Amino acid sequence: MQEQTETKVKVDRALAPVGTCVTLSDRFISEENPLGILTDAAILIEGESVVWVGKQDDVPARFDLSAADIQDFSRQTVLPGLIDAHTHLVFAGSRAAEFDMRVHGDTYLEILAKGGGIQATVRATKEASFDELYEMGMRRLDVLLREGVTTVEAKSGYGLSVEGELRLLEVLEALNRDHAVDVVPTFLGAHTVPREYKDAPEKYVALVIEEMIPRVAERNLAAFCDVFCEEGVIDVKTSRKILEAASRHGLKLKLHADQLTNSGGGLLSAELKATSADHLEYFPEDEVPRFREGGVVAVLLPVAAQYLMMQKTPPVHAFLSHGVPVALATDFNPGSAPCLSLLTAMTIGACLYRIPTEVVIKGVTLHAARAVGIEGKIGRIEAGYQADLSVFPVRDYRLIATTYGGVLPQRVMKRGHWRFVTENCGPAEGL
Ligand SMILES: [Zn+2]
Repeated sequence: MQEQTETKVKVDRALAPVGTCVTLSDRFISEENPLGILTDAAILIEGESVVWVGKQDDVPARFDLSAADIQDFSRQTVLPGLIDAHTHLVFAGSRAAEFDMRVHGDTYLEILAKGGGIQATVRATKEASFDELYEMGMRRLDVLLREGVTTVEAKSGYGLSVEGELRLLEVLEALNRDHAVDVVPTFLGAHTVPREYKDAPEKYVALVIEEMIPRVAERNLAAFCDVFCEEGVIDVKTSRKILEAASRHGLKLKLHADQLTNSGGGLLSAELKATSADHLEYFPEDEVPRFREGGVVAVLLPVAAQYLMMQKTPPVHAFLSHGVPVALATDFNPGSAPCLSLLTAMTIGACLYRIPTEVVIKGVTLHAARAVGIEGKIGRIEAGYQADLSVFPVRDYRLIATTYGGVLPQRVMKRGHWRFVTENCGPAEGL
């Protein structure tokens, strides 16, 4: 007779029971349960990964929990670690004065043309040392982590010279190495044409294509190449040249598209099968099916829209009805979105676009993972996924997406380790 010996799987940690577990796992998602929510759940973790998630009563016998650290979150909601899919994380200087200029009628593009806007941040960033930029980046990541964010996309674009752009990407590389939050770097040398190339913009574009992109790619300093595609910034024809060059060097593509005018950036992103197109206020609604065909994630940036006092909103409901994945992000930057709070961006987005909380939650987890090119690893609570988790002190997950700064996480886990823990969660208990 053969003896059956089952090897037990050792578990380091167990979150059990979890009151509300927002898995976003295909196994639990249904029409009635679009986020795959489980109540009275268990999440088992070994090393850096989730090894099992399901109802607590269903934990298979093959898991050995004898040495596991088991914690009770029966009064909490656990979400996948949040993902901020669009930030300009590293810069120096303030652009607060531009707010009053806009209130008095100057537009974003007029301020840029006068040498303000991005150009002002480029000057201030140039004056800051590597260490100063690094320290600011570390503190900003701390703030995001405390909100439950475990992965951040971050762009260069305030260097606008070969050395300046490489330096910002090196800062991002150091931040990714040293901070618990993962930083996905994007090269944005084509953020605008710097003033010194005003009369010969083609020379700057040649610098981006012939020097910056090859050096960034060679040193593996960026996962993506992005362009601020807009009339008066980088036109669609030039954007195409830059992105095609980046693609040839193995970089994935993103675009700042159709934010201030319908300049054709959204359509270009579909044609080039970019990973994401971001902003999209002026993207024409009847072209939305092209996004679906091109596999583009629509990244919405509601804080920038609100801060620039824009009247127009992207065709969000057409994106949703055509099955285009929609992500939401802060667009953290000093000029048009000085907002280091993804939770605030979520609530602004929910109101501005009239979208239900389930869309908002997917926009900072499942779909944001796709927008940063690491779906399959983050953005869900599922076996085989990274153990990136945010624990909120409420049972009703909708409060997280619809409360301005009131519901903050109690704990945040990155790769199986608690990286933020607090006993004081503010007013959340009273909600
Ligand atoms: Zn941006």
